Amino acid sequence: MTSASDAATIKTFALDVAEANRAEIAKLSDALFYFGELGMQEHESAALLADMLAENGFSVERGISGFPTAFCATAGSGGPVIAVHTEYDANPNNSQASGVAEQKPIVQDAPGHCEGHNCNAAVMVAGAIAAKRAMDKFGIKGTLKIFGAPGEEQLISRPYFVRDGLFADVDAALHVHVSGAFDTIHGLTHFAAVSAYFTFHGETSHASVTPWKARDALDAVVLMDMGVAQMREHMETDMRAHRVITHGGDQPNVIPAKATVWWTFRGPTAEGARALFERGRRIAEGAAMMTDTTVTVEVMSAVWPVRTNQGLAEVVQRNIELVGMPAWTEDEDAFARKLQAAAKAGVTGLTRKITPLTGPTRQRSPSNDCGDVSWVVPMGRIGFPSNVPGVAFHHWGAGAALATSIAHKGCVAGAKALAGTVLDLLTEPAHLARAKATFATEIGETKYRPLLPPDQKPPIALNRELMEQFRPLMRPHYRKERPRFV
Ligand SMILES: [Zn+2]
Repeated sequence: MTSASDAATIKTFALDVAEANRAEIAKLSDALFYFGELGMQEHESAALLADMLAENGFSVERGISGFPTAFCATAGSGGPVIAVHTEYDANPNNSQASGVAEQKPIVQDAPGHCEGHNCNAAVMVAGAIAAKRAMDKFGIKGTLKIFGAPGEEQLISRPYFVRDGLFADVDAALHVHVSGAFDTIHGLTHFAAVSAYFTFHGETSHASVTPWKARDALDAVVLMDMGVAQMREHMETDMRAHRVITHGGDQPNVIPAKATVWWTFRGPTAEGARALFERGRRIAEGAAMMTDTTVTVEVMSAVWPVRTNQGLAEVVQRNIELVGMPAWTEDEDAFARKLQAAAKAGVTGLTRKITPLTGPTRQRSPSNDCGDVSWVVPMGRIGFPSNVPGVAFHHWGAGAALATSIAHKGCVAGAKALAGTVLDLLTEPAHLARAKATFATEIGETKYRPLLPPDQKPPIALNRELMEQFRPLMRPHYRKERPRFV
């Protein structure tokens, strides 16, 4: 237990570290923005983040759980153990110049950040360094673990971390995520999802000369599509099923011996998503039978719904209020309004007020692979204001502010809120006790049972070709100046 005046001194010290590093936090966020790396190919991003943590005294393990672009950085020793985790991947076809309120790619058709995961990782690393400096200076007991989580956009890595026991000794976890607001929430926030490649295997033949000799794998993909379309009528109303055909053959005169469709099945509960996926699998088997082909199913991702904890939300909220909204300039607000108009969002300008903490939130239909973490330990979320409110993620408009002073100010605010929250959790046992008590009530009778197949291996080749194609074109835009925390 730390006295109130000690606690205030500790926190002021940590917030001052973040404040003194405004320029470095901006450089870090911008460096990641221009790397613009797709999930599982975040090699430059992960190396920079892990190097910065190592330079600042963390012991860093790279490549955890078989992910070349994951890392875990540890500081301190003993209990309590507080974890922070976030993602730093970009999206295909999301290259967007920053600071212009119109669609303008940095590199035509290239990947890029149009959500703000570059800011996520900058906040995590900056907040972690600020908290560690305070831990060292004031002799604070406990362990801080910083997890770099690859491939969030495809919902990949964190269920593997959980499966490998990386959260087994963790008392509380925090997820930082970019937003148009400065806020935290609690309750069920995201959907569960299972996504898988269904690959049909047939036999090739000349499509005009001897089509009767072929067994058409693409036919099976089409029939599976029809089967799932018929099933939609009989799915519960809030379930989702969506797909892309990733391989449908090579040319029309060669009947495809191989065709692949990538399906994602979602629902509000893990069991619901699992059951829907199993129905999809039976439809695939039916399609294979109808076309005299065979089918193999490779699970790509399998995540629980995200649930954030009330006790941690209360601590996060107090720190957000302590830090306060960034002071936006008139120019920043004018840019936000211009961008909102161009992106056909509501023209509200930048958020001026901190969002109050209210009761359990409404569950929405996106997913995040941090869901599995949130069922094994109490998990809190810090939403920080590095993007323009109302502009839809993955739209070019959500990339246009990501290397501007709006993003930079939001990152500093987020890093401060994170550092303050971590220090509260390390120094005040009552906070952790309340987090654990509310977590027990929230979880109730639900038993965590991974959706991820036990023998599943990380899909490390995902996005490799696309990234190799664009990286040489993106490299000339990389920032020259490397961040170094003072
Ligand atoms: Zn995200």
